[in-house]
Amino acid sequence: MVRIERCYFCSSPVYPGHGIMFVRNDCKTFRFCRSKCHKAFKKKKNPRKAKWTKAFRKSHSKELTVDSAFEFEKKRHVPVKYQRKLWEKTVDAIQRVEKIKQRRQDRFVKNRSVLFKNPYYNVWLVCESM
Ligand SMILES: [Zn+2]
Repeated sequence: MVRIERCYFCSSPVYPGHGIMFVRNDCKTFRFCRSKCHKAFKKKKNPRKAKWTKAFRKSHSKELTVDSAFEFEKKRHVPVKYQRKLWEKTVDAIQRVEKIKQRRQDRFVKNRSVLFKNPYYNVWLVCESM
């Protein structure tokens, strides 16, 4: 089963046959999309502190963090039997989910300046994630 993994450092997709995988002696695997990310990891950099990573953008509220659309991206370990109908439906659904996500992201970016002026915004975020 081929799977598109996420880069440990910048969370961009790592396609099969690309990037580097590092296996620590406790069997935890880390994938890196390019040498830039691998080098940063070797230097023990924190992805939340490097401005160009997804982790930084999320932790500094530059991007949408709490949203129901992220449910679709979760890993599922139960294999599904191949059915052509299901496959077609999935492809349709992916496109629709992508559209919804884009719309929500746009709305978030538009409202961001308003949200930051609200002192209760961060409190609300914490409550939402609990
Ligand atoms: Zn990366």
